[in-house]
Amino acid sequence: MQVLVVSPPNSNTVIDGASCTVTRPEEHTDWSDFPNLGVLTLASALRAVPGVEPVYVDGTVVPWPDVLAHVEANAGDILAICVSALTATYEAGLQLCAAAKRIDERIVTVFGNDHLTALTRECLTSRTRVIDYAFVGNEVVGGFVDLIRTLSAGGEVSPPDHPGLVVLDGQRVVATPQREEPIHTAIDYSLLDRVFEHSKLYHENFHGRVVPTFARLTGRTVTAGAPVEIGRGCIKFARDDACSFCSIQYGGMWRNSVPDAPAAWALVEAAFRAGYDYLYLTADELPLTFGRLLREMAESPPGWWTDLPEDDRPVMVGYARADGLSDERRAATLRGLGVRQLMVGLDAGTPVSLQAMRKPLVPIRDAASGYRAELMFEHNVRALRVARDQGLLLKVGFVVGHLGMDATLLRENVDSMKALLDTAAGGVAALDVEVLSPEPGSLDFTMLLDPDRARDRAAGLGLRTPGRRVHEARARKWRGRDVIDREEAMADYVESVMPGLTLDDLAAARAEVRDHGRSLGVTIGA
Ligand code: SF4
Repeated sequence: MQVLVVSPPNSNTVIDGASCTVTRPEEHTDWSDFPNLGVLTLASALRAVPGVEPVYVDGTVVPWPDVLAHVEANAGDILAICVSALTATYEAGLQLCAAAKRIDERIVTVFGNDHLTALTRECLTSRTRVIDYAFVGNEVVGGFVDLIRTLSAGGEVSPPDHPGLVVLDGQRVVATPQREEPIHTAIDYSLLDRVFEHSKLYHENFHGRVVPTFARLTGRTVTAGAPVEIGRGCIKFARDDACSFCSIQYGGMWRNSVPDAPAAWALVEAAFRAGYDYLYLTADELPLTFGRLLREMAESPPGWWTDLPEDDRPVMVGYARADGLSDERRAATLRGLGVRQLMVGLDAGTPVSLQAMRKPLVPIRDAASGYRAELMFEHNVRALRVARDQGLLLKVGFVVGHLGMDATLLRENVDSMKALLDTAAGGVAALDVEVLSPEPGSLDFTMLLDPDRARDRAAGLGLRTPGRRVHEARARKWRGRDVIDREEAMADYVESVMPGLTLDDLAAARAEVRDHGRSLGVTIGA
């Protein structure tokens, strides 16, 4: 029987009436240019289950009505629909599963990923008729495959047997802790086109968006892109000190990676042999978090790689913190590995703003992050210079807004972002500026829901917050909710914690920084 593993589209593109001013999917540049590695990993792992045909579905490229039509036409042959849900896509996933249940209530529904992990209780208790099972955390491939095996065999599901599984027992949420597991590396790229034709759609998007820009910036024409997971995690998770807006749910392991350099190279080779020459390393942060693995890879390149002329080798792209890039050796290692482009969240703004966003990487023994915050602008300037010297293209990002930001701080932050772009002098290839979104799972979402903590934290930073009554009302509105309208939550957060500012002010600031980037010849988005 079929098991659909689905990445839904952004809900605001398929559900009428959703607000979409600063969260348009086209604003998010990686969107739909590449296969979805999480979904492909789960689908690939399901090949081990006898009698199950895994169906890879990426609703960011396949028209959503086609997916609904497939469910309707094949309902009798569908065992389960499994949804990988982010906050932006959760509601669309619910829509699909509700439709499936209406067509055939026997179809089992399974949800997982960051949104479910952050709002487990809210999702399960609000959707008792739509969500049968949930998986919480990151290391859940083994538990998920076992669940499908049990369902496929018509067996009784016993939650303790499936690490990461969460079910509702009456009003009680029963969770089985996830178990550490290696990264699942046996990816079957042929699943991409087994039922729906995804490759053609990715190809069109990739050639429309990535290829021309990359060719213009590097002179290299790439043909197809795919994500590759040699590791996952970020050094900040080690201290449970994620940036305030970061909603990545790293689960039980702050860092997980393939065991060694040969294993990492094997993944690179598998993707290359499958026809991909633009490899998107999915690690949340590369140079500081996976420095050793990268160094070992650079020291032991395989023969197939060294035999290729440099221009025929696959290029790699990935994420880095600016303070990881400001070290020349780390930057040189990345470049030596064929990394050509890095996505870097830049750290402009006053020290107090950087602290409010929990941007500085503070060693455990260093209680005060103020000194570190003071150094961040310099680190960023150096990172931009080092990257340029090493021939690394940077796609940089800024986030506008934070707890306790007022008009003065907003102005200072915008000026600082523009100054950093001026300093970059050709080192920045592309720019993204986002308005702060309090995504479930992030510290900012906690601050939205908890006025006391928000006030304590702001006071600790020496920052003001607006009147408490409004914040209380906004917090009441969001507590217990499973569907989060991101734009509405953004506006409420601004009103609750940023005195004298509105979402429009932040959107205008974003436009100003983007315009400045454009005037310097920097590509916006893409
Ligand atoms: S550096 Fe990036 S991945 Fe790490 S905590 Fe901050 S936002 Fe999250």
